[in-house]
Amino acid sequence: MIGMGAVVTRSVPDFHLAIGHPARSIGIVCRCGEPTARFDLAPEAFTASVICRACGLAYDVRAGRVTEVTPPAPVAA
Ligand SMILES: [Zn+2]
Repeated sequence: MIGMGAVVTRSVPDFHLAIGHPARSIGIVCRCGEPTARFDLAPEAFTASVICRACGLAYDVRAGRVTEVTPPAPVAA
C-alpha cells in the first residue's frame, strides 16, 4: 500500500506500507487494508508473527519479508 503523495523510487515488497518522499516502508498492511504492524527499526530487522485485528488473517514476517499464514480461500468459478 502506498501513502498519498508518496514518491516511490524502488520496488515495495508485498504487504508493505510505504510513505514519504522518497517512499520507505513503515509497516505491514493486511489484505483487507488494515495496518497490522509498524516497523520500529529497518524493515529488514523486523521478524514477527502478526494477526490482523480487523479480519483475523495471520502473517509471518521474517526480516521484513511477509508471508500469508492463512491466505483467503480461492473463489470457486
Ligand atoms: Zn485484515
